[in-house]
Amino acid sequence: MKTRLLSPNEIDIAAGIIKNGGLVGIPTETVYGLGANGLNPMAVRSIFQAKGRPQDNPLILHIPDPSWLEIYCQDIPEEAWRLAKRFWPGPLTMILKCKRRTQSELEELKNGPVCSQTHLGPHIIPDVVTAGLDTVGMRCPAHSMCRAIIEAAGVPVAAPSGNTSGKPSPTTAQHMLDDMEGKIDAILDGGDCQVGVESTIVDLTCRPPRLLRPGGVPLEQLRDVLEEIELDPAVTRSLEEGERPRAPGMKYRHYAPKAPVTVVQGEPARSAQYILDHVTDSYWEGVICFNEFAHWFEDHPVECLGGSLDGFEHARRLFRALRAMDDSGVKHIWAQCPGTEGMGLAVVNRLSKAAGFHIVDA
Ligand code: AMP
Ligand code: MG
Repeated sequence: MKTRLLSPNEIDIAAGIIKNGGLVGIPTETVYGLGANGLNPMAVRSIFQAKGRPQDNPLILHIPDPSWLEIYCQDIPEEAWRLAKRFWPGPLTMILKCKRRTQSELEELKNGPVCSQTHLGPHIIPDVVTAGLDTVGMRCPAHSMCRAIIEAAGVPVAAPSGNTSGKPSPTTAQHMLDDMEGKIDAILDGGDCQVGVESTIVDLTCRPPRLLRPGGVPLEQLRDVLEEIELDPAVTRSLEEGERPRAPGMKYRHYAPKAPVTVVQGEPARSAQYILDHVTDSYWEGVICFNEFAHWFEDHPVECLGGSLDGFEHARRLFRALRAMDDSGVKHIWAQCPGTEGMGLAVVNRLSKAAGFHIVDA
């Protein structure tokens, strides 16, 4: 299959492909997503194939406005509406209870050859989206082209990040093409992603609500709206042997470049000094650092995350830096790490996972 690169004025082509069961790379404000008609089990199954994604890792459904929640979800708590009012459209995903299937829908599912059906029903989310859970991740994205595609397709769009499973997420159309060329119908080029890390995921099916993944909406801002929110342990550390993850995706290796990564924590001048003291003179050791320290590492492949205080820039540049390290062919990557305030929590989370939690203190 030839993967078409679509321009922003080809929204209708992208929407048509999705409506007809195909796969399209869609720009969002977080990262590029791999979108399919979320009501079509066959189409959704092909997302897993293209990415090499494990079947038990559920997908997020993208909707054009909050009113769609009531079509697909039930027992929606009042906090969900408050969060939607404040953060949608935007980089927040809410885990909610799926609408229960009626008796006649269950009969239909039992009797029908589900795999070959294009629709189970106008408001039935197929099990392949939720990995068989009774909950579903819902997001209303802010990117204008993404919204236009969803609206023109007229269906909720199931979309994980558009990378090959395990690799850093794509933040440009070219990055997505590097992973998906020949495997999907098209990618709509909507420019560089402005947030650069995935959405924040909050589980609203438990009390108190629980942060499953830090992302584009900082925890501090969620706390403005929610009286209480718990941090899932997997946000800040690796799961222990036998520990059951709250979100299926948490147990998989994620965001990782080819070379092993060592994350160095601590105040920026100290972590830069630590790297300088430990990096060998080999060209094959790459450094990801804050702008202020780039000139310390001139003999190495270097990628800058932005100024040490600019958390939004760190998020925007992180996945690009990890991919650039892959392209340079380095055998080991040293990375300076910001603190966990604001966007820092998401950046530290992605860096730690990219490093398999190989973290040292400067
Ligand atoms: P991505 O892997 O980039 O597609 O991000 C989607 C994330 O949302 C994955 O880590 C999933 O595990 C998580 N997710 C999606 N649906 C659910 C759900 N119903 N319950 C918990 N986590 C979910
Ligand atoms: Mg992903």
